[in-house]
Amino acid sequence: MSSQNVHRSDRAAGVLLTAACGDALGVPYEFAAPPPPGQPPRMTGGGLGDYAPGEYSDDTQMAVCIAEVAATGADLREPAALDKIAAGFVRWRIEGATDIGIQTKNVIARVRSHAQPGLGAAMTAAARALHEETGRSAGNGSLMRTGIIALAYLDDPVAMAEAARAVSELTHYDPLAAEACVLWCEGVRQAVLDATFDGVRHGLALLPAERRAQWAAWLDEAEHHPPAHFPDNGFVVTALQAAWSAIVRTPVPAEDPAASSFACDHLRDALYAAVGAGNDTDTVAAIAGALLGARWGASAVPVQWQRAVHGWERKHAADLVQLGLLTAAAIHTTITGVSPDLTSARTASGAFDPSVQEQASNEPP
Ligand SMILES: [Mg+2]
Repeated sequence: MSSQNVHRSDRAAGVLLTAACGDALGVPYEFAAPPPPGQPPRMTGGGLGDYAPGEYSDDTQMAVCIAEVAATGADLREPAALDKIAAGFVRWRIEGATDIGIQTKNVIARVRSHAQPGLGAAMTAAARALHEETGRSAGNGSLMRTGIIALAYLDDPVAMAEAARAVSELTHYDPLAAEACVLWCEGVRQAVLDATFDGVRHGLALLPAERRAQWAAWLDEAEHHPPAHFPDNGFVVTALQAAWSAIVRTPVPAEDPAASSFACDHLRDALYAAVGAGNDTDTVAAIAGALLGARWGASAVPVQWQRAVHGWERKHAADLVQLGLLTAAAIHTTITGVSPDLTSARTASGAFDPSVQEQASNEPP
């Protein structure tokens, strides 16, 4: 593999791993007191799900459900793949959910038959019906799990956007949720390919033309305020803004090894900043983590985090790395026969009231 491809594999490996680390880092502070002044957040567990130190929560648990389908090379836009993801969500709800957002909980509860095929369509219909009854389904619960989808479409942003929408709509019918997922996935996709954060803004081109100005203004707002300016971050827009603010407003350290200063420590510093948003800290940091991992790679994740992070079901850092690599490799193999970049990775081992959405709302299952 060329040096560039090694780096791309490292970045693909970083997406799910860093999201999980952000999640576990935010867990102790979710709707709770922030870290003491002057102290960084730590993966001490506790939180809403009585988590063990280093244990991640529903954000990563649901992302794993998607990843386990994506890693097979399935096209996530296809009904059969959406059936499998939906079945994963149902199984997780029954067997694994240590906490769960209200929107997701209510949608899954409405799905009467768990039989495949048709489960994906049934879940999407339940999400739509719930939205039409309540007018509210723009919580952050689909954005928190979306980053892995980008790895399945590294060379096809249009297909990626379609997949991000379809998976979002399994539980969140409001177009704002899907739009946020599209923007964030394009951010992840371009970060893996080019090691920049430019993809989030480039992702505006993947939205309907009439939606671009509003999202551009929301990104502008995020860039002008610290993460804590967006405390009602159970809403998908403010969750994205808090995560984006943490990433773009945290300085990238100088690359000066002699002074033990490394640019990639931006991953750590920006995750600390994401937790500083407050309230839905694990979700904001999980969202930020997917993009930070895509930009800086698994190799930038502090080793003590890699040792500690774990969660349902029996996943540790190496498993999260493998799911990311397999997802990136599988789709390339399916499309091109041989992946020039990542195949070798297979062997590497408005009307919305944000106060009542997925925030406030994460609760024991
Ligand atoms: Mg959570």
